[in-house]
Amino acid sequence: REKELIRSEKFKTAGQLAAGMAHEIRNPLTTIKGFLQIFSQQNASTNQINPKYLHLIINEVERIERIINEFLYISKSVKKESVNLNSLLQDLLMFCEPRAFQQKVILQRELADNLPLVELVPEQVKQVFLNLIQNALESMPAGGELKISSQWLPDANLIEVKVSDTGFGMTEETLAQLGTPFFTTKPDGHGLGLMLTYQLVELWGGKIQVKSAPGQGSTFSIFIPCSQ
Ligand code: ADP
Ligand code: MG
Repeated sequence: REKELIRSEKFKTAGQLAAGMAHEIRNPLTTIKGFLQIFSQQNASTNQINPKYLHLIINEVERIERIINEFLYISKSVKKESVNLNSLLQDLLMFCEPRAFQQKVILQRELADNLPLVELVPEQVKQVFLNLIQNALESMPAGGELKISSQWLPDANLIEVKVSDTGFGMTEETLAQLGTPFFTTKPDGHGLGLMLTYQLVELWGGKIQVKSAPGQGSTFSIFIPCSQ
């Protein structure tokens, strides 16, 4: 049984997003503050800082940095270019090949050769598909198949890019929460990848369609409007 979810504009307000971001940044900040307080007390006597603690602080700062970078991608003030989606997808797949090989995941591509160029920010496009590919790989820890296909739909003037995996799939509850900031089912997940993906595709005027069921893999279809 396959469940389908089509979403274009089911959205969280900017306020919700800001609240989530503030919440997520507060934890590492509390940790950093705690260490600094310990240092300021110890330092007077020993004049030494344990490098182990410095390392932890740097980790926490990097976590904050990562959260802020993810949110910055959403900003509109970045430069658009004519993007050849196929060559961009080829590059991404090549980048993921070593990890796929390690995980015994077979990469398949079915890229149409008649895609029109699209006017988009290349970094945003990379980010969108990298998030989908990463999630697909993470859903197949014991191997499987990751397939990327592209297709031009001339009547709708859309390009459809599909990312499918044969991984563990998603429950209805998970499907309903996709794109919500900080939603994750992974012990070490951040829940920012799909939030960003949904935000960016919406910014392009596109749509995301998801088909998935537990044990039956997942397919994310991204519909991107062509400018011409
Ligand atoms: P993260 O990967 O850090 O958990 P994401 O926003 O990328 O955050 O994904 C949110 C959640 O959506 C994941 O934790 C997982 O439950 C679910 N998910 C996304 N993509 C897939 C997929 N291809 N297969 C199974 N579950 C997925
Ligand atoms: Mg992810």
